[in-house]
Amino acid sequence: MLSVFPPDDDRWQPRCAAVPEPVPPGTLLCAQLGHDFLLHRNIDGTLVFPDVSQVNLAALLHLHTIGALDGATVLTGVLPSSEALPATLTPVSLRSSAAQVGAGEWSAMSLASQVLHWDRTTRFCGECGGPMRVTDPAQRSKRCEGCEHSVFPRLAPCTITLVHDGDRLLLTRQPSWPPGRYGLVAGFVEPGETLEACVRREVYEETGLAVDDVTYQGSQPWPFPHQLMVGFTARHAGGDIALRDGELEDARWFDTLSLPMLPPPLSIARSLIDAFLLQRNK
Ligand SMILES: [Zn+2]
Repeated sequence: MLSVFPPDDDRWQPRCAAVPEPVPPGTLLCAQLGHDFLLHRNIDGTLVFPDVSQVNLAALLHLHTIGALDGATVLTGVLPSSEALPATLTPVSLRSSAAQVGAGEWSAMSLASQVLHWDRTTRFCGECGGPMRVTDPAQRSKRCEGCEHSVFPRLAPCTITLVHDGDRLLLTRQPSWPPGRYGLVAGFVEPGETLEACVRREVYEETGLAVDDVTYQGSQPWPFPHQLMVGFTARHAGGDIALRDGELEDARWFDTLSLPMLPPPLSIARSLIDAFLLQRNK
């Protein structure tokens, strides 16, 4: 197995617990305004989580404890209006923050984004319409007071696959991507499907190719809004490229010596490609 993702980061420890009362000084805040995160910009330009003293905690909705960064407890929550936005904080989208925060901050923001999405979208019971409540702060779950239906945060598994054929690799392009950028075949796992079957189906549906030697390489939480990307490599086993399902703008074989613009470094797609190139060049 190639070592692809995630990078180890001892700074961040995820945790589910009650919000402390009172919230002690030094607690960090990983909060959102809309879907942007509120970050403090240091003099050197890096973005970090503000201390709770910079924000009126009473104004925050959906408050949760999500873990500890460098030993300091991290809370998440939602600021309902920009009127209460402190001048010291900058709203930054999760995607655009990736190049400006540390790996620990990124992991915390990824979890916060998923916890807040879950909390906002499970206020009422899907069975009877009654209100849902967190009954045990040490567990990330809610229960309906009326019918006892329980909900947990959703995860949507997706496979993402580097298809190789000797020194060539298969790269694909979606119309929504920046001009010239190529990536890997990816898609959601369907109910009743194994990860390996999903890899074979997605590669065939998107490109018309058959693959074998489907091998797990690593995984990455991808909080847009709650995917778990499961990375594989697979060997071309037959067929010619044909864009079958209309999702792709292009798919083609690239020699490892002449590659196009690749996905950004934070993504598992890029990690899979970098690991493949590293192994080829050994
Ligand atoms: Zn109910």
